[in-house]
Amino acid sequence: MRRQTPLGENPGKEEQHMRYSSNNYTAKGDLVNGFDYKLQVWVADEMVMPCGHPETMRADGPCCNAATYAGRVVATIPGHDEDN
Ligand SMILES: [Zn+2]
Repeated sequence: MRRQTPLGENPGKEEQHMRYSSNNYTAKGDLVNGFDYKLQVWVADEMVMPCGHPETMRADGPCCNAATYAGRVVATIPGHDEDN
């Protein structure tokens, strides 16, 4: 009699969900989902999320790093956070 492998042991599966309690990183240490503390930006699927500041705050240039780097892969940005 063989026992079936329990469900929920598929590594990488949980990376499909945004987690706020801890960051997810690739094997290389690049942030996938979470908050980059060095740049102070949110990251989803390795890309920087836009900030929620009103556009009036960007009249004289980007209001923050999120506005500067929105849509870019966070690992390509100098000074980004790493898990190692
Ligand atoms: Zn902003």
